Amino acid sequence: DLANRMAERAVDVVKYLMKQGQMVRVNDVLDADTAELVVEEFGHTVKRVSESDVEEGFIAEDDPEESQVTRAPVIAVMGHVDHGKTSLLDALRATDVAAGEAGGITQHIGAYQVQLKGGEKITFLDTPGHAAFSAMRSRGAEATDIVILVVAADDSVKPQTIEAIHHAKAAGTPIIVAVNKCDKPDANPQKVLTDLLQHEIVVEAMSGDVQSVNVSAKKREGLDELTEAINLQAELLDLKANPDRAAEGVVIESQVDKGRGPVATVLVRRGTLKRGDIVVAGSQWGRVRALVNERGQQLESAAPSVPAEILGLAGAPEPGEVFAVVENEARAREIADYRQRKERQAAGSVSGGGASLEQMMARLKQDQTQEMPLLVKADVQGSAEAIKQSLEKLGNDEVRARVVHAAPGGVNESDVLLAKSSGAPVFAFNVRANKQARELAEREGVEIRYYSVIYDVLDDVKNTMEGMLAPEK
Ligand code: GDP
Repeated sequence: DLANRMAERAVDVVKYLMKQGQMVRVNDVLDADTAELVVEEFGHTVKRVSESDVEEGFIAEDDPEESQVTRAPVIAVMGHVDHGKTSLLDALRATDVAAGEAGGITQHIGAYQVQLKGGEKITFLDTPGHAAFSAMRSRGAEATDIVILVVAADDSVKPQTIEAIHHAKAAGTPIIVAVNKCDKPDANPQKVLTDLLQHEIVVEAMSGDVQSVNVSAKKREGLDELTEAINLQAELLDLKANPDRAAEGVVIESQVDKGRGPVATVLVRRGTLKRGDIVVAGSQWGRVRALVNERGQQLESAAPSVPAEILGLAGAPEPGEVFAVVENEARAREIADYRQRKERQAAGSVSGGGASLEQMMARLKQDQTQEMPLLVKADVQGSAEAIKQSLEKLGNDEVRARVVHAAPGGVNESDVLLAKSSGAPVFAFNVRANKQARELAEREGVEIRYYSVIYDVLDDVKNTMEGMLAPEK
């Protein structure tokens, strides 16, 4: 990242650091002082925007181990349309035992937290579907710890099930399978598990390591088992955060409310957000006038994994954007201005962190990557599969093609978001992109390439690979 920003080659930065006696690899994180030294050594000027400027991918220092305490897991529910995502979220909402004392969950703010009988808490993102999940990832914000993949037992694996699997895999987020609608007479949970095998989801019953639970959202059955599975997975992940620091997190939803002005639901990732804090969220900033939870209660503060609406921002930030508390208004204004300028710049050019073959070649030349992520859409399943297989055969010891998603159908927004977050160009074979997808791709700098001959696809990828191969010694 640092090399990129200086328009230097990553290898040169690594070489320089090695000369200084620091053994670093390309993706290692540098501390602020070292980074500053490097920047000056390469003849550039340092502008420290903010220590907590996570979105810039600058220097995100880690909290010391001893400061971290266990936090609730954050869950996203994904799956094919009509397989019961909304019903399951509703059913899970009803498992909350804190309803009596604290008032039930009354309003939709994009996320809610439930407390289980044992006292454990779980945070659910309740915007079902992967659009929200991908929007966050495409902005570099990892908000989700675990994905619940809902598959209807009477319908089994469907295109959006597969899409969801690819999204979760690309994010490296563990999956728990919820086989839903098990109450139906024609339910066949076993078929679901077998079908999932083809997509490299091997559940525990088949000697794999993915947990799977049979549920009925309608009859509210299997929910205890499902929340147990979540707790187990959360324990494995050892989810922790430091609550005693300035808060940072992610914007889940936002809107401009007629009465209340800009309202953003945020999820705190670390630190504790307090009323009166000055926050920057994306390119918006403001003083937190009020914090409101999903029960409509005013909060004094929100700890890690706690979702809350904040009031007091000057405008509505985009979902998926990162927020951080800063020390004063001047700083907040500086960062917000800087980001607004960058947004305007980005609107004028589609370079930057986008996903195109050309940029990929540049990255590969800099020896920053050994994988070429690609996304394939085709007119029929057969050609999507054929292209995927041929592409994955290309490559050599140094570089391989990795198809993050291959499916039949036109290019849609979800494809573009997945492409963006994976750094993959989209290969459209005998299909077009719809208007929303084209506009999104334009904004996000994702290249959509159209083909009608399979050999042309392979040729382009081969040429890109060869362009970046290290010279023969
Ligand atoms: P979504 O599109 O994935 O959010 O699915 P919905 O939650 O809207 O559910 C789609 C349909 O399936 C609705 O008519 C639900 O009533 C029904 N449904 C959801 N869960 C179950 C279940 O466990 N059993 C049965 N029989 N029907 C269900």
